[in-house]
Amino acid sequence: MDTKIDNSTLSLIQGDITQQDTEAIVNAANARLAGGGGVDGAIHAAGGPSIMAECRKIGGCPTGQAVITVGGSLKARYVIHTVGPVYQGGMNGEAALLKSAYLESLRLASARGLKSLAFPAISSGVYAYPPNQSARIALKTVMDYLREHKDIELVRFVLFNQSMYDIFAEELRKLRGNL
Ligand code: ADP
Repeated sequence: MDTKIDNSTLSLIQGDITQQDTEAIVNAANARLAGGGGVDGAIHAAGGPSIMAECRKIGGCPTGQAVITVGGSLKARYVIHTVGPVYQGGMNGEAALLKSAYLESLRLASARGLKSLAFPAISSGVYAYPPNQSARIALKTVMDYLREHKDIELVRFVLFNQSMYDIFAEELRKLRGNL
């Protein structure tokens, strides 16, 4: 499912983020940049050890912030590592931190002159963010950014399973209805 935001494209696909040919892919990392399971493990496994070597040098990343490394043997030249919040009921600043994780990733892409990037559903796995709420925050943050910044041409959300794809598609339809 593709939608135009001014001259940019916002795309939803079901798939594996490690296979994307965007200039950067975004990793849902942890604050120590230590690797782990889920999408983080998949990206390090597919991209090889040069990504972790850079993560070690950087040392860590606070929740809601983002850092960038090489993409190793991935098709993407770069990996942007961002840290989403662990969902703890919603009263601990989770929404602002999740928004910040997307926004700081987009800002880093712009700062590097990148024109395309792919996001997973940050915090929607082990970090347990309720999927509809996380999808809405993800989509709204990207849509607002693309309206205000013309440099990024493509943002692709890569949803790992059909149910998460359906949730993103539902929230995107709702947000577009509100335009
Ligand atoms: P977090 O700790 O931020 O919740 P997870 O890796 O546990 O991160 O999950 C984030 C989302 O990424 C989940 O929706 C999960 O299904 C998805 N995911 C896992 N592997 C991949 C992959 N290879 N490509 C895209 N998304 C993935």
